[in-house]
Amino acid sequence: MIPASFDYQVAGSVDEAVRLLSEGGGDAKLLAGGHSLLPLMKLRLASPSLLIDIGGLHDLSYVREAGDAIAIGALTRHLDVAGSSLLQREAPLVAHVAGQVGDPQVRHRGTIGGSIAHGDPASDLPAACLALDATFVIAGPNGERRIGAGEFFRGFLETALEADEVLVEILVPKAAGAGWSFQKFNRRAQDWAIVGVAAVSNGSTRIGLVNMGSTPLRSTGAEEALAGGASASDAAAHAADGLEPPGDLNASPEYRRHLAAVLVRRAIEEASSRHG
Ligand code: FAD
Repeated sequence: MIPASFDYQVAGSVDEAVRLLSEGGGDAKLLAGGHSLLPLMKLRLASPSLLIDIGGLHDLSYVREAGDAIAIGALTRHLDVAGSSLLQREAPLVAHVAGQVGDPQVRHRGTIGGSIAHGDPASDLPAACLALDATFVIAGPNGERRIGAGEFFRGFLETALEADEVLVEILVPKAAGAGWSFQKFNRRAQDWAIVGVAAVSNGSTRIGLVNMGSTPLRSTGAEEALAGGASASDAAAHAADGLEPPGDLNASPEYRRHLAAVLVRRAIEEASSRHG
């Protein structure tokens, strides 16, 4: 289908993007890689009156050290996240997960900031950010603020971002030596996850889930069972406790619950045996 008509502006800086968003009055949208927004517009599920192109803000494309964290610019493409030797060494889960997103074309265009700001429960990187307890840096009319991944995802495709705010950076705690695992169950290699699991073991274990609810979320049932001394398989039996996974052409909610239990067990086992 063809999107509804819209105005188009190119932002030359984050400040300009914030100003244009403010002037757009809630009906403007940022365009980063376009790989989530444009399909929605073509389906007429989104009809912004103004697109603000931030794809040329190359100074928001970086991976660098920031004290005890690794800072990833929001415009960093999945390919560059996957290929970052710094991330591979200090937070290998993020690099690995970015390398599992879609196909090479998607990874060349899509950005980590777009993936997080979109807030799609079927996306892979938000689950990794939840497992790693990442922090998001947001620019708005009143300056910058920070918010933890755990407070960021609010509803289906809804986040803590205000209409006039830009996600500028993702801070991932350094976790060299921590155990980690990413389990993505899909029908074909380049497909979205039917269910996915990102786990990080670093003293305690944090588990992020893909496609198990209306937002990216954590498996608190399995995490609490593990903290109470349960085995991997006993904890995994609680993977979907309190969750309401969606049903669609790929899987019923019951099948997703089953997958979550299997994948969470595998993730816990792999995270306990693979470090760094
Ligand atoms: P855009 O589409 O440009 O933007 C998405 C939303 O985020 C828009 O609302 C936009 O306004 C907002 N936004 C973008 N950047 C910012 C910012 N810096 N600050 C505030 N708001 C912002 N994803 C997966 O996780 N796993 C997959 O397996 C997968 N497979 C895919 C397969 C295909 C065929 C396609 C087309 C996409 C797939 N994706 C997958 C999605 C892909 O990862 C997207 O690139 C990503 O979700 C969105 O990033 P983007 O840069 O394209 O964002």
